[in-house]
Amino acid sequence: MAAQPESALPEPTGQPEPTGQPEPTGPLDPGGELRRLAGDCVHCGFCLPSCPTYQLWGEEMDSPRGRIHLIGQLLDGAVASADAVAHLDRCLGCLACMPACPSGVRYDRLIGAARSWAAEPVAALPPRSRRERALRSAIFATFPYPSRLRALIGPLRVAQRTGLDTAIGGSARLTRLAPEISAALRVAPRPSGRRAPRGRLPERVAARGERRAVVGMLTGCVQQVFFPDVNAATARVLAAEGCEVVIPRDQGCCGALSAHDGRMAEAARFARQIIATFERAGVDAIVVNSAGCGSGMKEYAELLADDPAWAGRAEALAGKVADFSEFLAGLGPAATRHPLPITVAYHDACHLAHAQRITSQPRDLLAGIPGIALTEIGDAGTCCGSAGIYNLVQPETAAELGARKAVAVSATGADLVVSGNPGCALQISSALGAAGTPKPVAHLAQVLDASILGRPASVLL
Ligand code: SF4
Ligand code: SF4
Repeated sequence: MAAQPESALPEPTGQPEPTGQPEPTGPLDPGGELRRLAGDCVHCGFCLPSCPTYQLWGEEMDSPRGRIHLIGQLLDGAVASADAVAHLDRCLGCLACMPACPSGVRYDRLIGAARSWAAEPVAALPPRSRRERALRSAIFATFPYPSRLRALIGPLRVAQRTGLDTAIGGSARLTRLAPEISAALRVAPRPSGRRAPRGRLPERVAARGERRAVVGMLTGCVQQVFFPDVNAATARVLAAEGCEVVIPRDQGCCGALSAHDGRMAEAARFARQIIATFERAGVDAIVVNSAGCGSGMKEYAELLADDPAWAGRAEALAGKVADFSEFLAGLGPAATRHPLPITVAYHDACHLAHAQRITSQPRDLLAGIPGIALTEIGDAGTCCGSAGIYNLVQPETAAELGARKAVAVSATGADLVVSGNPGCALQISSALGAAGTPKPVAHLAQVLDASILGRPASVLL
């Protein structure tokens, strides 16, 4: 058995250092629930090998068990050192530790709470640096708002056409001074050779043939701006499978990105808007083609549990949310699949595989296409380093994980990588490029769409 975690926190001082930040409004865990959850950990260490940061550094405090120990100390009244906070911040929130845990420890709840303390902030944690706060403010003032994200595309394309992005992103000086900007330029999406849809998706797409379901579709923020072809393919495949697809215009951000970073009040605001929008749509199910968004929406009940006006509505809506692959696998195929003679490596997005425990459905759907040879990536359960905004706020670690993933993907010899999350698609694409082994990356919806439409495999490559 691995060594027990050592304390990385000073003993409680009783008097926290002045932080210049708002004082806590109450204890971290008034009902004691988090303390009970942390107490479920029996320190067995079974989760350690699954943890990407433990794989990288072999440090107890960068393992799930070490982080649970830290969180337990904070709950007991300790005041965190900057080093202790760094161990928590280096967690990807990939949740690979959860399926590995025989005791069923709710690490998602514990790290979610720790992140909310860092975001609020509370006196038990030293405040983030001005630079970190500014970076997060910029990210969260942009990413959840498609119109603001879209405004970045023009300048980005100019930089990419002129090679300015490579010059800046590859500059050792900039990487040293502003690793986050350098990382953002490296993972920024490039125009794909695939045919992009013209205009917006209609608000309603009729089912082809007999109508089997009426489904709502989340368009997502990053997905709709940088991957409109994925959304168009999703709607076409659903329609081809007999679904009437409702795509509300007034849907905003689902809040998953905010929740993943501990910005719970912001996440709850976004969630309420999504709930109201899809309630009005009157659909049987809400299909989500982004793993992070689907995972966040399935947790609406927990997010709004303390809001009596919304708790019931949140639970009802969360019960309708299904990942694209999960929904189609449950529905069963109706449309004919035409052959696609290619080898596909399927990448498990953490928020599909670990958070939603969806691993077989996308593989079964790919295997159901004649001609496709499905291959496994060696380190399938390990995060690629994307992890919400992680590759922007922890760029060095994300790049290291991306480089490892690129090696594992290349070793498959696959023609195409398939992933169910836009962040993973960007991260893997960028890592493969940086390794000098570029490969096309597509969403499952695009592969099914090409097969159903009888298009040649070359449209995906
Ligand atoms: S969420 Fe991921 S990075 Fe964080 S402790 Fe668990 S396995 Fe490690
Ligand atoms: S989180 Fe689970 S697997 Fe990891 S040490 Fe605790 S009980 Fe063991």
